Amino acid sequence: MTGYPHLFRPIDLGPFALPNRIVMGSMHTGLEETGDCPRLAAFYAERARAGCALIVTGGLAPNLEGAVLPGAAGLATDADIAPHRTVTEAVHAAGARIVAQILHAGRYALGPDCVAPSAVKAPIAPHTPIALDAAGIEKQIADIAAAAARARAAGYDGVEIMGSEGYLLNQFLAPRTNRRTDAWGGPWENRARLPLEVVRRTREAIGQDALLIYRISLLDLVEGGQTWDECVRLARAVAEAGADVLTTGIGWHEARVPTIATSVPRAAFAWVTKKLMGAVNVPLVASNRINTPETAERLLATGHADLVSMARPFLADAAFVEKARTGRAHLIAPCIACNQACLDHTFELKVATCLVNPRASHETEIPLDPAPNRRRIAIAGAGPAGLAAALTAAGRGHAVTLFEAAGEIGGQLRMARRIPGKEEFIGLVDYYKAALAEARIELRLNHAATPEDLAPYDEIVLATGVTPRCAGLAGEDLPHVRTYPDILLRDAPVGDRVAIVGAGGIGFDMAEFLSHQGPSPTLDPALWRHEWGVTDPADAPGGLRPGGPCPPPSPRAITLLQRKPSRPGRSLGRTTGWIKRLTLAARGVAFRPAAAYAAITPEGLELATDAGPELVPADTVLICAGQEPNRTLLPALEALGRTPHLIGGADVAAELDAKRAIDQGTRLAARL
Ligand code: FAD
Ligand code: NAP
Ligand code: SF4
Repeated sequence: MTGYPHLFRPIDLGPFALPNRIVMGSMHTGLEETGDCPRLAAFYAERARAGCALIVTGGLAPNLEGAVLPGAAGLATDADIAPHRTVTEAVHAAGARIVAQILHAGRYALGPDCVAPSAVKAPIAPHTPIALDAAGIEKQIADIAAAAARARAAGYDGVEIMGSEGYLLNQFLAPRTNRRTDAWGGPWENRARLPLEVVRRTREAIGQDALLIYRISLLDLVEGGQTWDECVRLARAVAEAGADVLTTGIGWHEARVPTIATSVPRAAFAWVTKKLMGAVNVPLVASNRINTPETAERLLATGHADLVSMARPFLADAAFVEKARTGRAHLIAPCIACNQACLDHTFELKVATCLVNPRASHETEIPLDPAPNRRRIAIAGAGPAGLAAALTAAGRGHAVTLFEAAGEIGGQLRMARRIPGKEEFIGLVDYYKAALAEARIELRLNHAATPEDLAPYDEIVLATGVTPRCAGLAGEDLPHVRTYPDILLRDAPVGDRVAIVGAGGIGFDMAEFLSHQGPSPTLDPALWRHEWGVTDPADAPGGLRPGGPCPPPSPRAITLLQRKPSRPGRSLGRTTGWIKRLTLAARGVAFRPAAAYAAITPEGLELATDAGPELVPADTVLICAGQEPNRTLLPALEALGRTPHLIGGADVAAELDAKRAIDQGTRLAARL
């Protein structure tokens, strides 16, 4: 008996039925381009075996000009068919359905021969697109339909037509990008002609027994976006033209409103899908920041959608569906929406994986077989590195003892979870607690391991993390100087004027923490919408209130400093750094690159400039100058003749993040 009755209610989609209401949404992993089809098949099959009933692939290009980047995977020629059979056969053998997403990037394509309704360059793309002529438009439609037919030939159960996120079909629909004056531009009927023709011809190409999903943009979140009336008309017309299901797309990629980052409230956009419920006669799928079975169940129970789409949660835990179905939801490794190992990797042209689950996309490389010999393993430090190592080692059958000096597990995650907008870290620590209990790991809290504690074990792992680095400035011992653990772990008081030394990830987070007042918008969707200028699309086209974000000003005067002359925040994640920079700037936080620190004085932070000394007045000077490895146990262990394994910050502190810590812990324990 499941605790999620709406989630596990079967649904008939037309061509076939599903046993539950969960769709694994489209995600490009980068495996598509490796040519290693067995690895891609293993990735999908692991999720299918664990109860995921319907999978949508990453976007596949219908032709060269529509590929997101040159060399991107596609279904552009008949030669593309055979490799996909490895994937579809593996998923079908595991008892699930899989549909291919056909994605034509239009002006978002990175190649110089990209095409679009009009020659209007996207702010996030390098080339001005070629405006399609009538023959060119006909070619795009024919290519999309042909790609859909190839998807069927490859064994896919249907296709999803990507019509949102600002890609080609969306570009035809919105006046922002469609400036045409011929039969494909101007009034809605003309702008909608290409998407509707694509759906009609795709249905012809795939037959009636295949599933046709259309991903519709219900909230463009850009100026010159669609009106709500246009969205409703399109939804009805698309269903009429042959779509079985509509999935909801939110926000163009060039939108300056976050749509899936961790600071976005859970299910923040499901209200838009709900607005469409009842207006069309096909099932609707809600998406964006749905990462727990509770959230999904609530949306279905309250009539927000007929199904829910989750993508990144299936990177974090392949067994999401099975754990939810069998009453083990507390053991689902949560997607914290950080983007660090998935979307950021995609933008760096690396294979997408997951911060929480480094096995994602690496299933064949990190198999986690049972250990040939059961060993006694001691791990010092229950931060992300130690936790990942402990759970992986115990999962393989080793006897693990985990020492933690603090009264709670989590290491620095205990600090990260206090930052407004990073509340998902609370769930991550809770998950680790539940998983440790389930794995029967011996956990010794409030126990700073000594060399004598560790020496008797077969294997010793030092995951003792880091210590904050001193900046080495004169005056650093003054009473108004703080470290970030002083504030986040010990609630040390902070004055009204703050100078932050160091504008790395932690400096930015501390600026967020100290410039914030009141409840976290991440926990209050209405407040979040207000602050980001998101409004009902019935009131403003695209759902964007003019004026941009309007967070309340900082209650403190904050200066964020670094020595480098580069733009502060450059080291932040590609897909999330802009959100942090925009928010802090809107709150009035001052950025100060190229700072030459002279000394900390009772009045503040003194800088050396060409014009002489300059004071940044401050009641509190906060040091966020990076970190050093904590390896205090190492010499004594070596003196005892032991060679411990070093992971996470205890190994290398520079550029350490939870992604590397968890990856290193997992990979070490997979080898022990
Ligand atoms: P730690 O997390 O430092 O854990 C080490 C643990 O060892 C601690 O619990 C400590 O008490 C324990 N310990 C030390 N000595 C002993 C001993 N002798 N015996 C037993 N236990 C001992 N990273 C990201 O990837 N994304 C983020 O968004 C992010 N945000 C952050 C925000 C803040 C405010 C902070 C402070 C950090 C953030 N980080 C983030 C960084 C991330 O938390 C660290 O990189 C990660 O926690 C390092 O993991 P670790 O296991 O190596 O060390
Ligand atoms: P960091 O990102 O390496 O930044 C350290 C900052 O301190 C830099 O701005 C650096 O800039 C400055 N600095 C270094 N040595 C200094 C010195 N001796 N004196 C004065 N300033 C000095 O480290 P962090 O901010 O401590 O973060 C630690 C890790 O946590 C990072 O690797 C980061 O990836 C991770 N993290 C990630 C997130 C996230 O959202 N993804 C959030 C928080 C933390 P200058 O040298 O130019 O002065
Ligand atoms: Fe979710 Fe972060 Fe993992 Fe991506 S890397 S799937 S956002 S937890």
